[in-house]
Amino acid sequence: MDIDTIGDWERTNDCGSLRRDDVGREVVLMGWVNRRRDLGKLIFIDLRDRFGLTQIVFDEEFDEISHEKAGILRNEWVIAVKGEVTPRLHGQENPDLPTGDIEVKVKELKILNETEVPPFQVDGKIDASENLRLKYRYLELRRPALFHNLVMRHRIALGIRNFMNREGFLEVETPVLTKSTPEGARDYLVPSRISKGFFYALPQSPQLFKQLLMMAGFDRYFQIVKCFRDEDLRADRQPEFTQVDLELSFGDEAGVMDVFEGMMVDIFSKILNYPVSKPFPRIEYKKAMDLYGSDRPDTRFGMELKNISDLLRSSTFKVFTEVMEDGGVVKAINIKGGVSFSRKVLDELNSIVTDYGNKGLFWAKVKPDGWQSTLNKFLTPDMRSSVEERLGAVEGDLIIFVSDMEQAANEALGLLRIEISKRLDLVKDKTYSFVWVTKFPLLEYDRDEKRYVAVHHPFTAPLEEDMPLLSERPEAVRARSYDLVLNGEEIGGGSVRIHTLDLQNQIFRILGLGKEEIQEKFGFFLEALSYGAPPHAGMALGFDRLVAIMVGAESLRDVIAFPKTQRATCSVTDAPSKVDKDQLAELGLSLLYP
Ligand code: ASP
Repeated sequence: MDIDTIGDWERTNDCGSLRRDDVGREVVLMGWVNRRRDLGKLIFIDLRDRFGLTQIVFDEEFDEISHEKAGILRNEWVIAVKGEVTPRLHGQENPDLPTGDIEVKVKELKILNETEVPPFQVDGKIDASENLRLKYRYLELRRPALFHNLVMRHRIALGIRNFMNREGFLEVETPVLTKSTPEGARDYLVPSRISKGFFYALPQSPQLFKQLLMMAGFDRYFQIVKCFRDEDLRADRQPEFTQVDLELSFGDEAGVMDVFEGMMVDIFSKILNYPVSKPFPRIEYKKAMDLYGSDRPDTRFGMELKNISDLLRSSTFKVFTEVMEDGGVVKAINIKGGVSFSRKVLDELNSIVTDYGNKGLFWAKVKPDGWQSTLNKFLTPDMRSSVEERLGAVEGDLIIFVSDMEQAANEALGLLRIEISKRLDLVKDKTYSFVWVTKFPLLEYDRDEKRYVAVHHPFTAPLEEDMPLLSERPEAVRARSYDLVLNGEEIGGGSVRIHTLDLQNQIFRILGLGKEEIQEKFGFFLEALSYGAPPHAGMALGFDRLVAIMVGAESLRDVIAFPKTQRATCSVTDAPSKVDKDQLAELGLSLLYP
């Protein structure tokens, strides 16, 4: 088939722009055939580009040649048309389409390209498998929903850049071929050809460079930056992802929080027209665990966890008393109106806690004639009413009890709380609730590695008042760290940094690093700390996740143009892929598993 060229045609309009006011104009449109209806003498086509759809009409009586040519058009062919904007017949307007009042009567048609039959229909419901859609991502991206997400992503990034610029932050690019930056994941390594046997690591974050920029006096830095973490892909993670990274000098927790709160207020109001008010609530890590059983609490609904151990110490229920004797707790939540939960639902909730490793939950339905519960015979009426009182439970409610060591009980009830909120639809769509979780533990003991590891990263400053505990009880020291949580998802985190050489060395030693290792890994950084490092603090925000929440996407993949699969592969290009022997030899490498 002959393919036409654009020649001297110039596109006068995009496919989303023509309105009733344009009637009578001669226009040139270009785009894809989205859908075609052939009624014989009349052929209708919805012409599509990224801006929208316009109905074009080939009328045999109006122009025979283009009408005949249009007979062979199929979906997804690329065409250009010259024609006249005409009003649609009365009653045939499409109020769902911005261009729905008009159509373009075609005088001349150019076929700019044909197409193979696409592996799935672009205009239609999503019935192809995710693998196929990822492989043909450029076709998937022709669909308005996905495209819209990427437009939103662009607007959010632009909003953030404008905001940061107004706040006096400089965007500075940091290296991608670099050295390991410890953020708790595995590095992606890149072999060096010039220095054989040596490797770059792709940045898990620009952490060390942004701190160096503070030492260089940049004062306020930010970057919207790709980071790389080689993790087993749990649920919704991407091995390469984008962060809004920030660092500021001569400021502390309050300074960083203030900037991010301002940024959220700004983009949520400008982009979603949603009023976020600041300051955001702050809750210490320990309290978040106590109340919500999670370090990323969803605060859009109550159902807070209550410790009721003191009320049940003298009960005759062995399951509870034995746990308490071993230093554990009994905690409970109250579900408003939960008496309606069926046995099946309760069994499902039970398996959530047993899957998690707990022995199981107990429950009590508060009925007019007392509790319906296996606990009845073990708890005195006084105990029952004091439990009700602490939980604010009334007739019609359901109380769920979990007993375990404190952390495990919190986490189990935390999971239940979220699951129940989903089942009861407690969360209104399109509400956004921010909360800061602060003062996480600085260190935790890694039983496998038999040493302490940093909870955030090793550059995080300990809380001043906990410093005396550093050598005796490192696990009890709290950090000057903070996470930003939105609707129960952690969207960012950061900390006040250590800015003195002595303290940084002390932390490295507590983390079990030897002198040589410290020197080899972080020598350059320690040296920089010794040349007048200002106090500084910073944070990074997961940009993909923020966009996903703002557009209401289910998966991060829906807000990334070319995402990786669960197996960290790129379906479009088939990366990672084999390389030939010469390329390996050039890098001084040979494979153990050819
Ligand atoms: N580097 C940290 C991260 O990527 C964020 C920060 O502390 O600024 O999670």
